[in-house]
Amino acid sequence: MPIFEYRCQGCGNDFELLVLKTTVLACPACQSQVLERQLSVPALKSESTHALAMKAAKKRDTKQASEQNRAQREYELAHND
Ligand SMILES: [Zn+2]
Repeated sequence: MPIFEYRCQGCGNDFELLVLKTTVLACPACQSQVLERQLSVPALKSESTHALAMKAAKKRDTKQASEQNRAQREYELAHND
């Protein structure tokens, strides 16, 4: 999610904004479009780290599942008499 944190230069409001191609950057409090992009966004950082961790865990689970399937198939082939 392209969520960025901005500080309004007009009223000093800090806010996060989901920025899409169609998004008009404006302060939700005063509608000013003079905004300063904040560089440190802990929420976004932790969210992406979490997403990466979930992706890694899913990949690991998938690998385990395929290895279990192969072991099961080898067992069945060995005992197919
Ligand atoms: Zn403002």
